[in-house]
Amino acid sequence: MVRQDNQNRHLRSLPNNQSMNNLHHDLDDSNLIDKSINEMQDILKMRTELAKLNNSDSRPDQIFINHNFLKEQIGFYQRQFERLVSENWIISKGEIKAISAYTCNRCRTFSSRLIVDPTYDMTMQVKHRCGDIQVNGNKVIIPFEEGVADIDKWATEILLNQINSCIPSLKYLITQDVSNVFDFFAGLMEKDSIRSLLGIPDRVYLYSLENHDKISWIDRGLTNMGEKIELDHFEIRDFLRRVNSTYAIFEIPTGPKLKRVYMRLTD
Ligand SMILES: [Zn+2]
Repeated sequence: MVRQDNQNRHLRSLPNNQSMNNLHHDLDDSNLIDKSINEMQDILKMRTELAKLNNSDSRPDQIFINHNFLKEQIGFYQRQFERLVSENWIISKGEIKAISAYTCNRCRTFSSRLIVDPTYDMTMQVKHRCGDIQVNGNKVIIPFEEGVADIDKWATEILLNQINSCIPSLKYLITQDVSNVFDFFAGLMEKDSIRSLLGIPDRVYLYSLENHDKISWIDRGLTNMGEKIELDHFEIRDFLRRVNSTYAIFEIPTGPKLKRVYMRLTD
């Protein structure tokens, strides 16, 4: 269960007072879910009442009044319930910091998951299981649309729609040079071991640029490390299309050396 994982994570990794705050927050969330479940039960109860009314031998005008009243009530609770589900089901929207996606050519699906903590949460690629069609509050799985020529472009549009719906404020790029971490371990272990030490691909994807690649938004990111850089819509699409995620480590050839830079979309 995602909620359980989150809770344990807070307890494991934060100082005491912070753990307590998060624990209270989690408890608030579970109250919210309880409330949603109660409301769903109310809807079901009213539907049963409505069905009973339809089969009763009360006066026709009385049935009509009760019928309309119950229908309005059901509509009200249903709207409330939908709002709660869309805003606060497993992760409240305010907590979502990133999205990690994966397109699998084997089972021909696009899947993505909402990320609360990009340094801790697993990427969609690692969580993906071929044939798994179970969707939940923080994960969607969509089969490839028939007849689509460019699946990457199609997947990018879905990812973009998800961002617009869950974290519409993501429109800046922020970069952090992590080359020194690679350089530090370079003489001590194999490249793949360094990568897995840094959580690639379990917690973050790696994207390697070719020598001749010249991309304006990456150049701007490199010359303005640590600063927020505004990206155009087509640049955000380009980012998503390349890495299938809102954050990744980029390997960038700069002369004889490879620069490693953590780049993420932020608000
Ligand atoms: Zn698959």
